[in-house]
Amino acid sequence: MSIDKTAVETTPKSNNFIHQIIDSDLQSDHAPVKIVTRFPPEPNGYLHIGHAKSICLNFGTAEKYQGVCHLRFDDTNPEKESQEYIDAIKRDITWLGFSWHEQIKYTSSYFEQLYLWAVYLIEQGRAYVCDLTAEQAREYRGNFTTPGKNSPYRERSIAENLALFAAMKAGEFAEGHCSLRAKIDMQSSNMNMRDPMLYRILNVAHHQTGSDWCIYPIYDFAHGQSDAIEGVTHSICTLEFEGHRPLYDWFIDNLPVPAIPRQYEFSRLELNYTVTSKRKLKQLVDLKVVFGWDDPRMPTISGMRRRGYTAAAIKNFCEMVGVTRANGVVDVAMLESAVREDLEKNAKRAMCVINPLKITISNFAEGQCELLSLPVHPKLEMGNRELPFSRHLYIEKEDFSEDTSLGRKKFKRLVIGDYVRLRGAYVIKAEQVIRDDNDQIVEVVASLVPRTVGANPAPEFKPRGVIHWVSAEHALPCELRIYGRLFTDPSPDKDKEKSFIELVNPDSLQVIKQAWAEPSLKMAAVESAYQFERTGYFVADSDSTAEKLVFNQTIALRESKGK
Ligand code: ATP
Ligand code: MG
Repeated sequence: MSIDKTAVETTPKSNNFIHQIIDSDLQSDHAPVKIVTRFPPEPNGYLHIGHAKSICLNFGTAEKYQGVCHLRFDDTNPEKESQEYIDAIKRDITWLGFSWHEQIKYTSSYFEQLYLWAVYLIEQGRAYVCDLTAEQAREYRGNFTTPGKNSPYRERSIAENLALFAAMKAGEFAEGHCSLRAKIDMQSSNMNMRDPMLYRILNVAHHQTGSDWCIYPIYDFAHGQSDAIEGVTHSICTLEFEGHRPLYDWFIDNLPVPAIPRQYEFSRLELNYTVTSKRKLKQLVDLKVVFGWDDPRMPTISGMRRRGYTAAAIKNFCEMVGVTRANGVVDVAMLESAVREDLEKNAKRAMCVINPLKITISNFAEGQCELLSLPVHPKLEMGNRELPFSRHLYIEKEDFSEDTSLGRKKFKRLVIGDYVRLRGAYVIKAEQVIRDDNDQIVEVVASLVPRTVGANPAPEFKPRGVIHWVSAEHALPCELRIYGRLFTDPSPDKDKEKSFIELVNPDSLQVIKQAWAEPSLKMAAVESAYQFERTGYFVADSDSTAEKLVFNQTIALRESKGK
């Protein structure tokens, strides 16, 4: 399949420098026939928001240029990897709405080829087996100011190296006994070029290859060659790999690879109040700071999903931040506002009373029920929902006041002696307050103004405002989980004195054990988004049962001021 260049040329200039590179590649004489990208996670944890950016970039680029994107598990560290992570990563990518080309790729399925290429380098006199211990090798390597020293094993003969490498593969040595290294330049100013390790001995079974191997390639040796095997044209990775590019190019130049991938680096996505490192997120899980990888407070894709963030919102956000080489921290409020914008447009509406005050409608008969019908969404065609109206209702405590001096503009809620509209139902007037022995208000008696459902009342009954409510007899008890930021510090990663664990917000989860939801929420599907009117955006949690619904607050209705 060839690329439709006209379609590509007419797209507006993007905030994505990779696309600009591809645009100009496509104009060149050596234009690739097809754009091939890949997303190469290591299956050592769940994906986070930073990965979402890389996914949108790699899969999105393939889509934009009618190319293909591979999902390749870069599985060269069997000790830290697992099938659980592989499954989670596949789920997350699919949920974001992307699909990989052909079957899933694994670096481990290239182990045989990579081994043969290592042998090839030995045969060319470009790799050797080194017996330095890890500590000695570090010493020999030097540092940024001191050049390295050649290993005493560097001049072993090709024949000896071939025999030793075969013995490594055959399991004849203990872990750490020796390693295979590239023979490049111990004096290079680029530390990555100082005879980097290619293979180490690891007596560990692998989740894909079982006990086939006891030597494993180093990521740096595997990565570029895997790209070449897959015909990746644009190998996109984050900036920390910029210094590795000369090494990747060295491998490609010195091996008979089938294709030449080009690497382009972009800046990592970093968000304030967030950590984006699988290692750190794993610590939060292991230390039980959160309930799991998909805890709604986690910046993981599965956590955000459970929290009620939508794939569309996450993709919009990634689009907004753009792709550049400038390092910077993005305000998490930008992600939240992308979520809010999407939910405002698309979430179903419902009512839920959190802090109930009982209202008794004196002119509505006990036991009577009137079924009112309300649109599920004010603008979108989502049908209607039924709302039972009865003599006993709940409204929010804070929506009632006895203070009759409160101005109509200032307090657009229920005041004794005045009118308010119950959303989608009647205009009511508060008549009388009932108190308990401690002088606390326990109930308000009100009367409804007849024929005001869906109709404007006469001017003398003009309501102060509109408030939400539920029928006390029909409402469903539910638990609400309200989330704050997981960290109190805008840069939990950066504090030199304190570990990020110490900067966890102790009040990041507030549980409201009993709120009252309108009956239509009985059908609320997990992950289906709702705006609880005047309260916030919520989503049903997988912990919901027939007895008790559980909702996660996705986000407040509006950005809170004064942060
Ligand atoms: P982590 O430190 O969280 O483990 P990683 O880079 O080691 O991240 P990989 O599994 O190797 O995780 O990442 C797969 C791809 O996602 C890589 O191409 C990597 O560059 C990219 N990626 C990881 N973190 C980010 C981020 N914060 N922003 C953008 N891309 C990222
Ligand atoms: Mg990595």
